[in-house]
Order: sequence, then structure tokens, then C-alpha cells
Amino acid sequence: MAPRRLLAVWAHPDDEAFGPVGTMRLAHDQGWQTAILTATQGDAGQSAKADLSPGQTLGEVREAELRAACAVLGVDHLQVWRYPDGGLQDIPQDELRSRVLDVMLDWQPHVVITFGLDGITGHPDHIAISAATRHAFAQLQSEPAIQLRRLYYVTVRPGRQIENRMGAAPPPAAPTSVVDVSRYEAVKRGALACHASQKDEWEPLLADHDWLTVDRFFRALPPTEPGTPIEMTILHE
Ligand SMILES: [Zn+2]
Repeated sequence: MAPRRLLAVWAHPDDEAFGPVGTMRLAHDQGWQTAILTATQGDAGQSAKADLSPGQTLGEVREAELRAACAVLGVDHLQVWRYPDGGLQDIPQDELRSRVLDVMLDWQPHVVITFGLDGITGHPDHIAISAATRHAFAQLQSEPAIQLRRLYYVTVRPGRQIENRMGAAPPPAAPTSVVDVSRYEAVKRGALACHASQKDEWEPLLADHDWLTVDRFFRALPPTEPGTPIEMTILHE
């Protein structure tokens, strides 16, 4: 059987490391081909910790951090778009959607992961790339020749408070899928450590054992029937 393929769509370098690292690496270890699409270089991120050489930009540093994290995750293919960090909501939705669709048509993923429509943290970039990914996925799904695929949103344990600097996000969706990735805790820590310039963002979270060892998802498309038991994997054969 041809390998299954997983695509994760994010807005910034480090979104992949805050996200479902264990599941990405588990997919790799199970023989899946994995890809990450990141829409910006994160050039508006926190820069206090970034050790910039003369002429080097924060975006270049963060893209290099992302590439290092992808190596830890065993990602086969990384695409970085370099839209302005903080400016995704100003890009026409049609443009974002058609570019995400092009990536999907090229990569032919069986499973796609992105932010929920709330953007998890309410970040407008997260919300914009989530909407584009959902619309592109729906368009892809409507093609009759293509087998059943699944779109998942990353989410968090019910009741967990997410710091939301934008102040607008509703609570993330309750999980439909809970994946035990405790054996990948070191991988998660390793992926986060690649993002040295953003250490102040992720270091406080290292005390959250649950966050390090469990990935949670909400299956967006096709939706689950009410009453469906929580699934323990998103990597269906
Ligand atoms: Zn982000």
C-alpha cells in the first residue's frame, strides 16, 4: 500500500512545536509521509532572545528554528510562505484558500491538521489560515475521485485556560480524538527547544505534563455523529 500522508497547516514557526508534535512524529514512525505548511516566517515574534547576526532578520532566524524542529519531527516536506506575520487576515481569502488547495492537490494528504476556527489563541493569523484550510479541504473533498479524508483541528483538554492575547476566541472545541503521545515527550521538548528565540513563550508550559504527553483534536470534516466514542488515533489506515 502506498504510504499515507499527513499535512499540518500553521501560521508561524513554533506553531508546529506548540501543536501535536507527538502525533506528527508517531505518523513518521508508522511510515506515513508528513508535511508542514507554515504561512509566515514569524517575523513579528518576540525577538528579545534572538541572537541576530548583522543583516540577519528575525524571520530568517525563526525559519531556521522551524527547519530544525521539522528535523526533530521527522517531517518529510516543509513549505514556508513568508507572508507578513500578523498580516494573514489582510490577504484575500481566495488567495490563501487557493494556495492551500494547491498544496493539498500536490501533497494529496489523507489527514490534515490545522487550528480550530477560534485560532486556539484567537490570533488573527491562526484564524485566517484555519478558515482557508477548511475551505480548501471542503473543496478537495467534493472531488469524487478522491477517497475519504479527514480534517482535524488541534484543541486542548476541556477546561484548560488558554492565554488569549487577542481576547476574542471562544473556548476551543471539545476533543473528538485523544492521542496518548507520552512516549514522545522528549521529542516535544526537543522540538520546542529548537525555537530558542521564543523560549519565554514555551518554557512556562514545560510544567504542564498533560500538554507534553497528550494530543487532542476535534474532527471537523467529515464531522463525527453525535454520541461517537472518542477515538484514540487520527492516523487511520
Ligand atoms: Zn502562531
